[in-house]
Amino acid sequence: CGIVGYVGQKQAQDVVVEGLRRLEYRGYDSAGIALPKDGLIVSDKRAGKLANLEASIAATPLPAATAGIGHTRWATHGAPNDLNAHPHQGSRGRLAVVHNGIIENFAELRAELVAAGRTMLSETDTEIAAHLLEAEVVAGHDLTTAMQNVCRRLEGAFTLVAIDAAHPDTVVAARRNSPLVVGLGEGENFLGSDVAAFIDHTREALELGQDQVVTISRDGVRITTFDGQPAEGKQYHVDWDLAA
Ligand code: GLU
Repeated sequence: CGIVGYVGQKQAQDVVVEGLRRLEYRGYDSAGIALPKDGLIVSDKRAGKLANLEASIAATPLPAATAGIGHTRWATHGAPNDLNAHPHQGSRGRLAVVHNGIIENFAELRAELVAAGRTMLSETDTEIAAHLLEAEVVAGHDLTTAMQNVCRRLEGAFTLVAIDAAHPDTVVAARRNSPLVVGLGEGENFLGSDVAAFIDHTREALELGQDQVVTISRDGVRITTFDGQPAEGKQYHVDWDLAA
């Protein structure tokens, strides 16, 4: 339901959790976060209010990191429990993904992955995207190419945001029939399902078009189509005020 992504110089954990707090108004049943640490993903995800996730993080602190992704879930496929909460991972622990929307053809993709020997841990439509993306990066593609290749196989409505702990300087996102906005900062960039996710940090926003992939780093934002062609978003200034 709500998505946050960050690459910059601040503690990603703080930026992501604050962003999720700003997105709470949309409603949700679970919340989660993933950060890269030494080539592997460290993640925490909890059913219930964001306070549950925060209590869990307080009990078992997450590592310092300057990139991360977060999610508040409104369950469509699978009960609202810890296991089905996002982020989801593949089998090797290096990749994590969060998702808003519904992947309509997930059942056939899931069957294909299971036939190939992969084990699904959740009941979500989202987990297949983690396995497909992981297979692409393990095969040697960068995460941007991986996202393009995977998105061409997906049907339905989705905003996806992924991080590959082997390359923790970038976060990659994509959208089809579901919103995605980039927040443009100085030495940092943000992703959100809406601008509330990053409004405390920047008011310069870039709205993604249909079927586009965006790759953010500390000092760059690159947009392509699902076919890998260069593309442009729509830049604007957010001039409304949020209640504190
Ligand atoms: N379909 C996904 C799920 O049920 C994402 C739901 C959402 O948009 O939060 O986990």
